Amino acid sequence: MPFIDELTDKLHEECGVFGIYSYDSEIDIANASVFGLYALQHRGQESCGIYVSDRGVPVGVKRVGLVHEVFTKEALEILGTGQMAVGHVRYGTTGCNTSRNAQPMHVNHAKGSLVVAHNGNLTNAGELRDQFEMDGCIFHSTNDTEVIAYAITRQRIKSSTIEEAVCKAVDSLVGAYSLVMMSSTKMICCRDPLGFRPLVIGKIGEHGENVPPHAYVVCSETCALDSVGATFVRDVLPGEIVVIDKDGLRSIPHNVDKGRPKHMCIFEYIYFARPDSFMDGNSVHISRENAGKMLAMRYPVQADVVIGIPDSGMDAAVGYAKQSGIPYAIGMIKNRYIARTFIQPNQSDRTNGVRIKLNPVKHVVNGKRVIFVDDSIVRGTTVSRIVKILREAGATEVHAMSAAPPFRYPCYFGTDVDTRENLIANQHETYADIARAIGADSVGYLAVEDLPMLVRPKQGICHACFTGDYNVPIPEEPLLKSKFENKLPFDENQLRLEEK
Ligand code: SF4
Repeated sequence: MPFIDELTDKLHEECGVFGIYSYDSEIDIANASVFGLYALQHRGQESCGIYVSDRGVPVGVKRVGLVHEVFTKEALEILGTGQMAVGHVRYGTTGCNTSRNAQPMHVNHAKGSLVVAHNGNLTNAGELRDQFEMDGCIFHSTNDTEVIAYAITRQRIKSSTIEEAVCKAVDSLVGAYSLVMMSSTKMICCRDPLGFRPLVIGKIGEHGENVPPHAYVVCSETCALDSVGATFVRDVLPGEIVVIDKDGLRSIPHNVDKGRPKHMCIFEYIYFARPDSFMDGNSVHISRENAGKMLAMRYPVQADVVIGIPDSGMDAAVGYAKQSGIPYAIGMIKNRYIARTFIQPNQSDRTNGVRIKLNPVKHVVNGKRVIFVDDSIVRGTTVSRIVKILREAGATEVHAMSAAPPFRYPCYFGTDVDTRENLIANQHETYADIARAIGADSVGYLAVEDLPMLVRPKQGICHACFTGDYNVPIPEEPLLKSKFENKLPFDENQLRLEEK
């Protein structure tokens, strides 16, 4: 049975990573990691995990479930105390949803242990895995994080330090990776040379450059820094390796090239990240508001009210309203309590999936010409149901605005943008055709040319799912996930049942 939120037409976030290295025994790092993962829960709701390292011995708890389901009082007792911890929330873009694929990944090797939490997706994971398997490595999961763990530990055997091993290993990785890792004595964090996924550094303690911190925190988004009372220090640079140990924090600019444009996923700003986060110097909220303003300039429509589809359409709707002068109102309410409800996948449930999650405020839309702004339109199923719901609530006109350009190509960098044939923009010639298909009076999309305006000048962004311009080699075999799963020596369905 799928979860009810799988019946709606939304892209899934990829993963969130969190790490803390403490110099203060008063800080409960297991608790802090749980708070950090709560703040990152929007990035992955399938499984989660935390490893705590006490004097070089990592102890972990990870399984399928939300943070509050997995990290019970008993789980926290198992984790105990220590000097550093690494946590992860997962939505699997490679590998199915079992505890085996939950992260962080922990491997022991001849020189100690390595714990890896990964956000992103390698485009050469299949190739590397084949190579490692031919050399005798045995894989226990179907996700590419285990490939990264092997890439590093294989180098570690031949290297004098973990830093040296990480430098050599990352040169073999292609694609998107923001990593937070623990060796026996160090926390090591890095970001791929193009910076597809975010990674930020914060510190707990007094302000001031020369004031020693009580702890360093490294995580996917600044909202997780806020949740543990850490202040933002800086972003990890694309290509940078950051090492934190008893002597403090130091940077290894291994693949840093400040002249090279980044390829930060623009969909982080439009949808994945929390609006209270800052990434690479940009406020996510302001980026979304600007998207709405640009939509209003490109698609001026005579209407009575602008509403946003919760949650990630709200900021862009505010921007549209500000730019157009049309009043903004709360016209759609999201039920926040059903995300993990199992549902039988019959047709009527699918049709009602959106209705259970979203309901109109009739007073706001009845008798009105309504513009609604959503973060994106993927397959078109959710948006057409929203149009229907608004008309049933009395809207006299319904205009659909997407704060993202039309999706036309799959994503290989850690999100589940669908295959080309399932994307509504590839099924119709014109926007008027799409409007007809979803039952709206009109439809508008942000233009690809508008995307750079969502971030700081010259930052550089990835927009491959809109343009097909990938900039790194992509796998010939898109069904990487299935390929790995076919190799599993156990029955995943049986495992799933055992986990429930
Ligand atoms: S292809 Fe699209 S979703 Fe994937 S990283 Fe690039 S912008 Fe983000």
